Amino acid sequence: MSSSDVEHRQVLVVGAGPGGSATAQRLAEQGLDVLVLERRQVVGNPAQCGECVPLWGMMTNTFPLLRDDEWLQAYFELPHWVIAKKLDWMRLYGPSMRAYGFELDCVSVHRLQYDGHLADRAINAGAEVRTGIELRNVKAQPKLGRDLYVTNEGRFSADYVIDATGAMAHVARLRGQGSRPVVQLPTVFCQAVGEMPDSFDIFIGSVAPGGYAWIIPKGDNIGNVGLGVHQKHIDGSLKDRLDEFCHGLGYEILSWGGGWIPLGGMVKTAVHDNVLAVGDAAGLVMPSNGGGIGQAIVSGKMAADAVVAHLEDGTPLAAYDATIRRTMGKPLAISTRTKNLFWTFCRNDWMTNAAMRFLGVNGMRRAVDCRRPFYIL
Ligand SMILES: Cc1cc2nc3c(=O)[nH]c(=O)nc-3n(C[C@H](O)[C@H](O)[C@H](O)COP(=O)(O)OP(=O)(O)OC[C@H]3O[C@@H](n4cnc5c(N)ncnc54)[C@H](O)[C@@H]3O)c2cc1C
Repeated sequence: MSSSDVEHRQVLVVGAGPGGSATAQRLAEQGLDVLVLERRQVVGNPAQCGECVPLWGMMTNTFPLLRDDEWLQAYFELPHWVIAKKLDWMRLYGPSMRAYGFELDCVSVHRLQYDGHLADRAINAGAEVRTGIELRNVKAQPKLGRDLYVTNEGRFSADYVIDATGAMAHVARLRGQGSRPVVQLPTVFCQAVGEMPDSFDIFIGSVAPGGYAWIIPKGDNIGNVGLGVHQKHIDGSLKDRLDEFCHGLGYEILSWGGGWIPLGGMVKTAVHDNVLAVGDAAGLVMPSNGGGIGQAIVSGKMAADAVVAHLEDGTPLAAYDATIRRTMGKPLAISTRTKNLFWTFCRNDWMTNAAMRFLGVNGMRRAVDCRRPFYIL
């Protein structure tokens, strides 16, 4: 094979979700040559999300060590046209429909616009984004000391590679890396019309065993409604289950979507050779609530900084792994434990009601915020 038909770039980012776009923007701002490959024809379409995005207050509440990061703070500011609705309140409903409500600092978005906005920001900073290009294979080239990335539109090599491919961590999969996200929650969601609550509502119990159902309002009469069920409880079609849930609420379904949420916690290591995993590919979702957009952005920024430090003074790329663990590791580990406790104890509606009553509003809030739901844990 001649090397001439291989396009070499300084940094190859695979995936233009929030993690990939944040990484690309940060790198491009510092003058690096960045190419983002995205398999979708249009960034963000189709969406795979409940479309609730945390604002900076929410992020620093969960991850206080991020508080002084001005770049991230600015990154979490959104133009008004991306925001569908401000979400100031969350209600958790147990099987008895008793509600536990507390404040929130989030917005709902149209994920298509949101992801498009983040990709635009990366492009404006100088990154190149190519859509409709899917990574299909990775071939080791031991003599050259770097891998060959094979896509439907040519072959690429790079000094650094960012695995921003989401829950399935395709770069890691194609490279045969052992360290990939585990324990995936299958989910289905829809855009629904009907009278929406004024809060982000979560329903726990037999409506979605081992998982939860949600209503995230995007307007007074439109919202994102979905559910995820632990694989061992799946006894039929998730779509039928959601259809029934929406029917019970009097909602009309406009469109369907689905996806996987990695709930197993952080991968063993997010750095393999010259490949850094960000976002879902690094298992950075909060297992107790399924939110992952914020951590995808944070890890993207940190991965970019690790690449720059490696270039500037040879700081080992493994520093990236240490940084995400230091800043986000503890809350995510608590969140994983909370989810495991939930799976262990909330085996039926009666036990779920009892556990929720025991925790009360404060305990439930702490669980959602990735803090210990009660102090003796
Ligand atoms: C149903 C559902 C609801 C959710 N709701 C919320 C929520 O309300 N709030 C929240 O914070 N989080 C939510 N999450 C989690 C959230 O969507 C993810 O944590 C977040 O999108 C992770 O960002 P990312 O950049 O790591 O990956 P992604 O956003 O998944 O982006 C990965 C990108 O890589 C591309 N890609 C994948 N493979 C390849 C390939 N081989 N070649 C090229 N490109 C490729 C994909 O097309 C995609 O654009 C939800 C997840 C699901 C499935």
